[in-house]
Amino acid sequence: MIAPMCLFCRILEGEMAADVVRETGLSLAFRDINPQAPTHILVIPRRHVANLFELAEYAGELADVVALAGSIAEEEELDKGYRLVANTGSQAGQSVYHAHLHLLGGRDLGWPPG
Ligand code: AMP
Repeated sequence: MIAPMCLFCRILEGEMAADVVRETGLSLAFRDINPQAPTHILVIPRRHVANLFELAEYAGELADVVALAGSIAEEEELDKGYRLVANTGSQAGQSVYHAHLHLLGGRDLGWPPG
């Protein structure tokens, strides 16, 4: 049996629609379908790896994801602050096992996170 393609890989392949914000040769950024803040954007590598830690093996690609998130934060005028979140594993609430950063901003963000 062939395994179903990962959700974010389907977005990368254009098989599933997404509200794309920006892209680079290595990364794609699109708005989260269930936003938790006025700005809630997912930044993902084109490479399929399960989480951000696995992406650390590919330093240039990890740097591209982080740099793209920071650049979008500037464009979204999140000058008062923003949060980059990488849920890793089920206990942290990871639901899609393709590395991604959540870029959250536009409101006061509580600490500690839930
Ligand atoms: P996580 O729970 O950290 O793995 O984050 C996965 C995120 O993907 C969640 O915030 C979902 O709302 C978001 N998500 C799931 N499906 C889609 C989709 N088709 N387009 C955009 N965001 C999605």
